[in-house]
Amino acid sequence: MKQKKSKALSSLDFCDLSPLSMDQQGLVDDFIHHYCHHLGRDKYCSSMRYRYQAIAHTIRERLIERWNNTRYAYINADCKTGYYLSLEFLMGRAMGNALLNLGICGPTGEAMQQLGMDLEELAEQEVDAGLGNGGLGRLAACFLDSCATLQLPVMGYGIRYEYGMFRQDIKDGRQVEEPDHWLRDGNPWEMERPEYTQRVRFGGRCEIRRNDDGTQSYCWLDTHDVLAVPYDIPIPGYRNGTVNTLRLWKAAATDVFDLDEFNAGSYTESVAMKNEAENITMVLYPNDASENGKALRLRQQYFLASASLQDVMERWIYRQGKVFDHFAERNCFQLNDTHPSCAVPELMRLLMDEQGLGWDEAWAITTSTMAYTNHTLLPEALEKWSVPLFRQLMPRLLDIILEINARFLAEVAARWPGDGERLARMSIIEEGEVQQVRMAYLAIVGSFSVNGVAALHSELLVQGLFRDFYELWPEKFNNKTNGVTPRRWLARCNPGLTTLLASRIGDGFVADLARISGAAPLADDPEFRAAWHAVKKANKERLAALVREQCGVAFNTEGLFDVQVKRIHEYKRQLLNVLHVIHLYDRIKRGDTADWTNRCVLIGGKAAPGYYMAKLIIKLINNVARVVNDDPEVGDRLKVAFLPNYRVTAMEVICPGTDLSEQISTAGKEASGTGNMKFMMNGAITIGTLDGANIEIREEVGDDNFFVFGLTAEEVEGLRKSYNPAGIVASYPDLERVMQLLASGRFNMFEKGIFDPIIAAIMSPADPWMVAADFRSYVKAQRKAAEKYRAREAWTRMSIINSARSGKFSTDRTISEYNEGIWHLRPVQPKR
Ligand SMILES: *Cc1c(COP(=O)(O)O)cnc(C)c1O
Repeated sequence: MKQKKSKALSSLDFCDLSPLSMDQQGLVDDFIHHYCHHLGRDKYCSSMRYRYQAIAHTIRERLIERWNNTRYAYINADCKTGYYLSLEFLMGRAMGNALLNLGICGPTGEAMQQLGMDLEELAEQEVDAGLGNGGLGRLAACFLDSCATLQLPVMGYGIRYEYGMFRQDIKDGRQVEEPDHWLRDGNPWEMERPEYTQRVRFGGRCEIRRNDDGTQSYCWLDTHDVLAVPYDIPIPGYRNGTVNTLRLWKAAATDVFDLDEFNAGSYTESVAMKNEAENITMVLYPNDASENGKALRLRQQYFLASASLQDVMERWIYRQGKVFDHFAERNCFQLNDTHPSCAVPELMRLLMDEQGLGWDEAWAITTSTMAYTNHTLLPEALEKWSVPLFRQLMPRLLDIILEINARFLAEVAARWPGDGERLARMSIIEEGEVQQVRMAYLAIVGSFSVNGVAALHSELLVQGLFRDFYELWPEKFNNKTNGVTPRRWLARCNPGLTTLLASRIGDGFVADLARISGAAPLADDPEFRAAWHAVKKANKERLAALVREQCGVAFNTEGLFDVQVKRIHEYKRQLLNVLHVIHLYDRIKRGDTADWTNRCVLIGGKAAPGYYMAKLIIKLINNVARVVNDDPEVGDRLKVAFLPNYRVTAMEVICPGTDLSEQISTAGKEASGTGNMKFMMNGAITIGTLDGANIEIREEVGDDNFFVFGLTAEEVEGLRKSYNPAGIVASYPDLERVMQLLASGRFNMFEKGIFDPIIAAIMSPADPWMVAADFRSYVKAQRKAAEKYRAREAWTRMSIINSARSGKFSTDRTISEYNEGIWHLRPVQPKR
């Protein structure tokens, strides 16, 4: 009897369900079920929250169905799997994306209408999943969408931060950070999976044990363990039945018995220890493009790497047994920057200490499964962790890193005998008062592939930062130019343009963006141009409404919408943008307004909370905006707004309503940029430097459809020794007046001297960002853009050409290249 029962349970055939209805009535029925029975609300409940939750659960169960089918298909295919390891996934909202990819926007909208509700209004209830800083985290999110759309067996691994990217308030023109407790009302898009909990070790000490057969083994003892509990998020492909997984780890204390083992008799200290464990996943570090060396951050990194690798290992052993001969052929880990690069020594540890492999065997496996993506050339962003900190937190890992380094340096010494300087340059350990682990070098040595994220960036990497490694292993280095997903960044955020395009070239471009080139000839069709212009106009109305609501500034949609939204950083040169705004203001005040083009300048972005100059630049933008907007002489000629709390959901309104996309970083500093691609796809024209992917955008659209300016990366480096901003200012009256206005206190009447550090930075011969150097050519390019904007038909033509040439910048193309060049995964179709 007992046996029969367990057999019945283990077959679980009841899981084979008939598919849920995807039509209006089916959606209505399930909505009502969730609202009344699952959530327990009734007709007196007026809160929008539960209506959102009911529709979210209705959609979620349709995802789960496809999720299970996808998992079955992957298991049946017994296929190679890719893993995208990232400390950040900047997902934004899930609902609209799920509806689009499931192909049920229409029936769901109608179902809600039948119940007297507005779907878009419900969608507004969802808070952004802001588990990332900016471009790097958003790239990870776009990649997951493309992997699912291409039906590649790829799983994302990340951290389930309790608090995501901070909410930015502007008070008195200054940034104020508010915590983002995004999980407060629960998250219907995640599923806790405690059955796959892992244990991650910290601290303790290492001991070498001599085995009876004369070999040695390593024990990592007296550790303080933390549990890693996975929460899975479904990642739907575009109308193809595939739903992949993003697995996010939450830290939890091991059980109480464990705690009082080293805390005997002390209940409160015991409970406090629990907090320490759970702190690991409490908060996202809000530093974009700069590391900050805090121990908690290193803990987060190891926590992600260890939990994820153990998870993969557990599945491998469950399905294949404790045999690792084919492990490398069947698994590939892509490291999103050096943040998860503890994965290299951790995989070595798991293979050797837990599975008993020898060093050479384990190293062969590790170095054929790890691949590393570099995201920046900025020296302040290159991660280094002090050796003592490593020893304290992960002593066993440090031992392995030192051994990796010793063997690596022996290889270098054999190749370049007697070249001590080269050894010091290439060592994973940087010598100095305190030794440091160079995480980028660890990632390069441990990986079979190292890629940059745009052609220029990859080129600069092998010429500069990684030159020695390129000489040693040229075959490891490659480029994968970034992209963005056309589902969220065109179809979802710009339904007007998508419908218009689909009416003329079919809707195939959403799944295959190369086909959007079919719209290029339509640039010559006056009727199409009129329709295009009308869509842009409507999108500008939508953006103007956001600006009015959020900033209290009235943007007239007849004007040129000139937009720069991205993290605030000196290398991105929001300051150059402000100087141009001041220049325009100066022209208006001097009456130099013949053939004027009305302009609405929008700037948005968060500054790292400890980044003094970035925060001061925000203050300057807001002060300039106030003076300009309050000056009756200016009127509609110029409006300036700083949009608070820039995030994914804001960008979904911003990029469709933009005319001019500001991509004005100091050449050689922006690895790729992806905001530039979102704008282009939605028909904005770029004003930009020859930096990152701007170069490739310009290649695609041609010089006539791009406003290029500024020094090249080579010229920037060449100028450094002799850079003389005072000379530049003195020889250019327009810039001289701008600097005088700044110094005069016009923008800080009652805040004496607050912008002096900005003036000093611009005037410094050591200014790394060379703001003054590019001012003249920037103003010239801006003038050209303004003139072009007044020729409306010509502008609309450029706008169409920009969209039509954006095919390259789909992450479907990027991911296909990762797959063909690095991962070698076979697509798998789930049963439908
Ligand atoms: C796309 C995006 C970014 C990256 O913008 P860049 O201009 O490439 O720096 C940053 N934040 C958000 C919210 C984005 O959507």
